[in-house]
Amino acid sequence: MKMSLKAVSLIILVHLLFASFALGESRHELNFPDILDYKTLKCDFHIHTVFSDGLVWPTVRVDEAWQEGLDVISISDHIEYHPHKRDIPIDHNRPYEIAAPRAKEKNILLVKGAEITRDTPPGHFNAIFVTNIPALDVKDFNDAVRLAAEQGGFVFWNHPGWKPEAKGWLDIHTKLYENKWLKGIEVVNGDTYYPEAHRWCLEKNMTMLGNSDVHDPITGYEIREDPELTHRPITLVFAKEKTAEALKEALLDGRTAVWHKNQLIGREKYLDAIFKAAVKVDKPYYRQKDTVWFEIRNNLCMDIQMEKAGAGRAEKLVLPANSTTLLRRGAKDKTGEVKLSYVVKNFLIAPDKGLPVELVVPLQ
Ligand SMILES: [Zn+2]
Ligand SMILES: [Zn+2]
Repeated sequence: MKMSLKAVSLIILVHLLFASFALGESRHELNFPDILDYKTLKCDFHIHTVFSDGLVWPTVRVDEAWQEGLDVISISDHIEYHPHKRDIPIDHNRPYEIAAPRAKEKNILLVKGAEITRDTPPGHFNAIFVTNIPALDVKDFNDAVRLAAEQGGFVFWNHPGWKPEAKGWLDIHTKLYENKWLKGIEVVNGDTYYPEAHRWCLEKNMTMLGNSDVHDPITGYEIREDPELTHRPITLVFAKEKTAEALKEALLDGRTAVWHKNQLIGREKYLDAIFKAAVKVDKPYYRQKDTVWFEIRNNLCMDIQMEKAGAGRAEKLVLPANSTTLLRRGAKDKTGEVKLSYVVKNFLIAPDKGLPVELVVPLQ
C-alpha cells in the first residue's frame, strides 16, 4: 500500500507530539529517607541574588538547588539593602517572578520570601510564604514582622549569633514570639551552628532551620577553608506532600531537622526515625563457635558516628555514608537477638547531646 505524503506527515506529527524527550540532565540524590508517613523535603529557605547583595541571577539559584538534590528553595533578598541598585532596579517581586518558570521546569518548589534586614539587635528575619513583599518595606520593625505574619508568612530569626552585639534573646524577641509572629530560628546559618538557638528552639517549641544564606555562586561552598563544609546546610522538612500548603503546615508544626557539615540537628523523635529508616542490621552471615559476623547498612548520604560507653574506654563505630560495614561480635546464644546500645555522636538532639540508639542483631 502506498501512503500519501499527507498521511506520512501526519504519522510523523503524531509521533512527535507523543514522544518523550529526555532533557539530558540528571543529578545525584541526597539520601534522607521519608519518615513517620511524611515525605522528607530538602530545603534551603535563605538565598540571595543580584536583587539584593548576592552575585547570582535568580534562575541560576534554581539550577544550583536542583543540581545539589534539593526539593524546595526560597529566594530571600534583603528588603532594605540594595548595593547593586545602580545596575539592578529595586523590585522586591522580581527574583520570584524570574525564578518561578525555571522552578516549574525543574520540579523545585519555589516559596516566595524576603529578608527583613534591620540593625542588630533585633537583627535579620526571613519571612517566607508572604504574598506582598513591597508592603513589608515599612519604617517600624515590629510593623514589618506583624505585616509578614498577617500575610500568612512564616517568620524566622536569621543567624542569631552573627554579630557580637546580638546579645542573645531580648525583650524584642519575646514580643515577636508572644504575638505568635516569630515561629522559627536558624540553628545553622552558612558555616555556623548556634547551640544557643538550638536550646531556644527546644525550650520554646520553635522550628529549627538550617540555611545557606548564600551570596556567591554555590560552588563557593567547596572552596572554603573549612574542609567539613562540603555541602550547603539544608533544612529537612517532614511534610505530608510536596506542596506549599503541606510545607507550611510542617514548618508550623516544627517537623524539621538540619543537616550541617557531618551533623544532623533536630528533635529526638525525628532523628530517631531517620536512624531507624536508614540503618539496617542483617542476621549473621557467618558463625564460628561463639562469634558471629554480620553486616550493617547505612543508606544515608552522611556518615553515622557512634560511640559505646564501655568499661574503661569508649568504643567507636563509624558507618560511612551509603555503605555496608562488617562487624564481629561474641554471641553464645543461637536464637533471639543481641542488643547493642550506642550514642550517635553526630545526631544532636540538644547541644552536646547525641541520639541514643539500639542496634538489634537478630541471631536467626
Ligand atoms: Zn542576614
Ligand atoms: Zn541573608
